Amino acid sequence: MDNEELTLFRDMTRRALEQEISPNIEEWEAQHMVPRELWNTLGQAGLLCPDLPEEFGAAGTTPQVTFAIIEEMARMGFGGIASGYGIHSNIVAPYIEHFGTEEQKAQWLPKMVTGEVLGALAMTEPGAGSDVQSIRTNAVKDGDEWVLNGSKIFITNGMLADLIIVAAITDPGKGAKGTSLFLVDATLPGFERGKKIEKMGQHTSDTAELFFQDVRLPASALLGELNKGFVIMMTELPRERLGIAAQAVASAEGALDITVDYVLERKAFGQTIASFQNTRFTLADVKIEIAVNRAFYEKCADAYAQDKLSSEDAAMLKYASTEMQCKTIDQCLQMFGGYGYTIEYPISRFYTDARIQRIYGGTSEIMKELVARSILGR
Ligand SMILES: Cc1cc2nc3c(=O)[nH]c(=O)nc-3n(C[C@H](O)[C@H](O)[C@H](O)COP(=O)(O)OP(=O)(O)OC[C@H]3O[C@@H](n4cnc5c(N)ncnc54)[C@H](O)[C@@H]3O)c2cc1C
Repeated sequence: MDNEELTLFRDMTRRALEQEISPNIEEWEAQHMVPRELWNTLGQAGLLCPDLPEEFGAAGTTPQVTFAIIEEMARMGFGGIASGYGIHSNIVAPYIEHFGTEEQKAQWLPKMVTGEVLGALAMTEPGAGSDVQSIRTNAVKDGDEWVLNGSKIFITNGMLADLIIVAAITDPGKGAKGTSLFLVDATLPGFERGKKIEKMGQHTSDTAELFFQDVRLPASALLGELNKGFVIMMTELPRERLGIAAQAVASAEGALDITVDYVLERKAFGQTIASFQNTRFTLADVKIEIAVNRAFYEKCADAYAQDKLSSEDAAMLKYASTEMQCKTIDQCLQMFGGYGYTIEYPISRFYTDARIQRIYGGTSEIMKELVARSILGR
C-alpha cells in the first residue's frame, strides 16, 4: 500500500470507528466491557487481521495496515479497544499464520478475520510475569492427547476469547527449552474463566484470570514444534512491541490534539490559556517528544517490513515510546486543570489507559535489561 492508499485507509478506518465506537464508548467504559458483537462488527468492516493472506478471507495487506488501525483507535482515545484489537490481530493471528499447520490456519484464521473467533494469548501466571520462564501450567501427553493443567492471570480478551494460545511446560525442569504453545478452544471441558479483573484504566479491554483443569487437547492443538514455545514467543515479540509503540505514539498525538483545542478555548486571567508561555512551551515539548518517537517508530516499522527489526531496537522503542506516552499525556492533562481529572473529559481516559503500556509486553525495566545486554553482551 503506498502512502496515498494508506491515508485513504486511515480515513475509512476513522469513519468506521466514529460510527461503531464513538457513540457507545462512554457506556462501554462505564460497563467496563465491550459487547462481544463489537468484534463481529469490526470483522464486517474489514478491520480484523487485515494483513493475513487473502485465502483466509482477509485483505492480504502488509502489517503496516494493522499498525495503522491500532494507531487510529489509540488516537481517538480508545486505548482499551486498541489493546484487545492488538492481541487479536497483531499477536494471535500472526502466531498462527507463522507457526500453525495448514489445518490450524484453516480452522482458526478465517473466523478470526470475521470476528467469529476472538483470540487471546496467555503467558503470565500469578508466579510468573517478567520471569515468564517460571510458568507452572503444564501439558502432559496421554495417548494422542495432551492434558493441560494450571492457571493464567491478566489475560487480555480473557472474558470473551474463543481461542487462547496458552504457554505450558511440556518438558519439566528444562525451563524455556521445555515450554510449548497450545491452541486452546474455549469451549473445551475443564476450561474456566475467573472473574473479570478490575483495572484503573483500559476499561474497554477485558482482563481475566483463566483456569485449566484436566483440559484434554487433541494432538493437533500443539502450535509450532514441541518445546519451541519460547523461540516462537521471542520471534513474535518485536511485532508485539511495535504494536504497543503504535498505540503509544498515536495516543500521545490524539491527546495533544484535544489539548490544543482546549487551551485555545479556556480562559483564565482574561486570556486564553494558550497565551501563557508555560502552555506554549509545554505543548512544544510534547510535540517534539512525539515527533522524535514517531520517527523512531516508523524506522522500526520499516525495518520490520523488511524482516530486519532487531529485538534490541524493538525493546528501545517500546521503552522510549511508552515512557513518552505517559509523560506527555500527563503534561497535556495538566493543561485541563481540574476538568482533566474528571471522567467527562476524554483526556482522563488517555491518562489512565496509558499507564499499563509501561508494564505489559515486558516492563520498562525489562526493556532496559534487554538493551543493556545488547550493549554489554551479558
Ligand atoms: C491490563 C493488563 C493486560 C495484560 N495482558 C496480558 C496478556 O494478554 N497476556 C499475558 O500473558 N500477560 C498479560 N499481562 C501481564 C503482563 O505482561 C505482566 O503483568 C508483566 O509482564 C509484568 O509481570 P508482573 O505483573 O508479574 O510483574 P513482576 O514481574 O512481578 O514485576 C514487578 C516489578 O519488578 C520489576 N522487575 C522484575 N524483574 C526484574 C529484573 N530482572 N530487573 C529489574 N526489574 C525487574 C518489574 O519491572 C516491575 O517493576 C497483562 C497485564 C495487565 C495488567
